[in-house]
Formats: sequence, structure tokens, C-alpha cells
Amino acid sequence: MKYISTRGSAPELGFEDTMLTGLARDGGLYVPKSIPKLSQADIRAMTGLSYEEIAFRVMRPFVGDGFSEEEFFEIIQRSYAGFRHSARAPLVQLQSNHFLLELFHGPTLAFKDFAMQLIGQMFQVALRRREEHVTIVGATSGDTGSAAIEAFRGLDAVDVFILYPHDRVSEVQRRQMTTPKDSNVHALAVDGHFDDCQARLKDMFNDFDFRDSVRLASVNSINWARVLAQVVYYFSSALSLGAPDRPVSFTVPTGNFGDVFAGYIAKRMGLHIDQLVVATNQNDILHRCLSTGKYQKNMVLPSLSPSMDIQVSSNFERALFDAYDRDGSAVSRAMEALSHKGGFSLSQGVSEKLGQYFSSNSASEEETLATIKNCFAKTGELLCPHSAIGVNVAEKSRFAETPMITLATAHPAKFPDVVEKASNLRPALPERMADLYERSERLIRVENDLIKLEEIVKERIKA
Ligand SMILES: *Cc1c(COP(=O)(O)O)cnc(C)c1O
Repeated sequence: MKYISTRGSAPELGFEDTMLTGLARDGGLYVPKSIPKLSQADIRAMTGLSYEEIAFRVMRPFVGDGFSEEEFFEIIQRSYAGFRHSARAPLVQLQSNHFLLELFHGPTLAFKDFAMQLIGQMFQVALRRREEHVTIVGATSGDTGSAAIEAFRGLDAVDVFILYPHDRVSEVQRRQMTTPKDSNVHALAVDGHFDDCQARLKDMFNDFDFRDSVRLASVNSINWARVLAQVVYYFSSALSLGAPDRPVSFTVPTGNFGDVFAGYIAKRMGLHIDQLVVATNQNDILHRCLSTGKYQKNMVLPSLSPSMDIQVSSNFERALFDAYDRDGSAVSRAMEALSHKGGFSLSQGVSEKLGQYFSSNSASEEETLATIKNCFAKTGELLCPHSAIGVNVAEKSRFAETPMITLATAHPAKFPDVVEKASNLRPALPERMADLYERSERLIRVENDLIKLEEIVKERIKA
């Protein structure tokens, strides 16, 4: 299996190099050169299998021969062993034909664990074989950082540095990053906003001397291996509801378009998905683009669902690449217009192609709170604010015949203040994390300054 860049001028890579590289050298994102198909019989044959077995069959064609079959199956088993629920991604019924896919039973209580745990194990196996060590640096508004730290802690082939905005993440999120004791984990509290963290991270990648001297690697949401891991739960949940003999629809709370793009891949592989509904909060660039054909940046408005407070949705580039008939230079031009003019317009043809796969809607702050309250009253299910956006948008779309599956992206206890405000109930952390507030913290305060950050990274990896 070969991977190509959405901007058309980076070298083709195999799976392992695609995973270890992250962003393509031409600024694009890697996508598979062709999408493997599963037949209806292949899909039917997965009925009743464990999550791990489904994961193996869905992901195997993308991985090629980078890992042996036994090795890959063991990687998958290790990745999901730390999940609290034996189904890994259980479905809960909300209404006659509306289901919630709970993706928050992993070690950091958000769906990002599905991809990050797998990536951690794959990095470790690949780097050991190559006898290499890499430095992973990531920027986070909260959930990505904790998921990355949890996935890479204690692995000897990597050091992991996470930049987060000092005093701007929730206490649970901060403690998940600062309480692991492993010496290869480094939480950096940057004096600035999330955008500053993201900008310094980009600067590090553009400082080629630094990048090469520490072997910088990235596991942010544009890493193809993360998208791939997320394709699996579209299959596992659809199978539970009768796939391939019954179609299903999905509503996906989204910011960076990663999770919903995985649903698109599942559909392209042959899973019968009727609608893929993109659900945004008030930062609704994706909804505006899908409904009006204009992709136009606005200011980021902080919301009750901070993990979706994004204006430039990096994975959307992958969907555009297909909608532009895989014309890398057309994608490059669009992305150039985005950075220089703040936006671009889609042609009629491109809009129609996207419309064949995606519909969209947004939910306001009031709707988020009302949905948490009403859903709890009607079903006893407490939603995190991101999942509430999904449920609200799903309820606004029509899905009479086809079952609708809404993705629940985080555990309510990760956002206790919002949930309490909406429902008067303060969600408790799961038992194994109950002492999180008592554990001692370890972090490095650092100015929003590239040189200082690079010095810290260099010193720490030597230590
Ligand atoms: C990251 C995140 C999202 C958004 O996911 P994308 O893949 O960026 O679209 C939604 N909810 C939660 C809880 C998250 O952590």
C-alpha cells in the first residue's frame, strides 16, 4: 500500500514511513493511493467478532507488509487492553432509532485514545526494529496531549513533549498530562493560547536543523494512522445494528474533521452508510462550507465544547483532495488562498461531490446545555458537551428509517463544570482515576519562545 500527498509533490511512502512522518514535506497530508474495498461477504463475516478482530480485518489492507500478521494483531490487542469496557466502543440506545457510540472508555476518557494507543504501540515496534529513537512534540487544547502522553509513557523508543496553554485547559486535562511519572514524558505549560502552542510547534518543524537533530515526529490529528484507527468503530457499530444488510447513518461532533473523515473512508471501503452528518459548535466553518460552498475563516469563539473550537479544519483537505478528483495542484491553490486571503469558494461540482457524502448542522451554546439536560432527563445518559452537539444535530436531521449512531467523544467527567451547569449533576471520574486530584504534578513552565522551547527539548532528551 502506497500513500500520496494531497498537494501532489511529496514522495510516495509506505505505511510505516507515512506514520512516522506525519505531515508531508510539501505541506500536504498523506492519503492511500487507492482505497481498499471490503465485499459485503467480508463485512458479513465480521458479525459477532471482537473489536480487536474487526480492527485487524479493517486496518490490515492499509498497513501492507510493514508488520507481520501476528505482530499487527498483538499490537491491536495491547492497544485496547487498557480500555475499561470489554466491547471497547459500546452502543447505547437513546431512542427507538437513535444510538450513542461511547468512545470514552479508554485511559484518558476521550475517543482520541482509540488512535493514540494504537499509534504508540506501532511506533514502538517500528522504531525498535529500526533501532531508532524519535522525539514527539505535540500541541494540545487538552485531549490530544493527554491521550498522547498516556500512549507513549514508558516506551523507550520515544520522548514525548506536549505544549499546552498554561491555565487554559481543564483541571482534569492538565492533571492527566502532569501526573504520569515516566521520565520520557514532558508536559510544557506555555504562556499563551492554544494557537501559540500550535504556531511554536510549526516553527520547530520548519527549523530543519532542529527537526533533524532531535528526529522530530508528530502525532497530531493529520497523521494518517490516527484516521485509520478511527475507521474501525464505524464498522463495529454498524455491524452491531445489522450491517451489511441494514444501512446506518452517523452524526459526528467534529473540529478538525478527523473523526468524520474516518467515516468517509469506511463508506468508501464498502460499508453501507446512508448519511454522514458533520456536527459543529458555534465555530462552524465546516457547516458553512458544506451548506454554502464557501470555506472562510472566522475568529475562534471559545465555547462549552473546547475540543471543537477550531477554525481551520486540517483533515478537511483530505476530503477536498477527492472532491477535486485528486488534483494536488488544485488543492495547493485552495490552501494558498486560505492562508493568504482567509478562504476560498468551492466550484459547483466540488460542492456536489462533498454533498454526496456529507451533510451538516451546528448547535449553539444554549442548545448544548439544553441537550445535556434533556438527554439526562429522558434516558439517564450524561453527555459531555461535545457529544451533546452531536446528539442535538442528529435530532435536527431526519433519519426515520435508518438507525442513527451519534459518536460520544468524551466522558462527561472530563468536563464536569459544563455538565453540572446543564444538569445539576456533577459527574464522577471512573474509579481507577478517582485519585487524580491527589496525585502530584510535574510540569515545566515556559515562555512562548521558540529558542527556549527547543533548548528544553534538547536538554531533556539527553538526560
Ligand atoms: C478532538 C475532539 C473532538 C473533535 O475531533 P476531530 O477529529 O478533531 O474532529 C471532539 N470531541 C472531543 C471530546 C475531542 O477531544
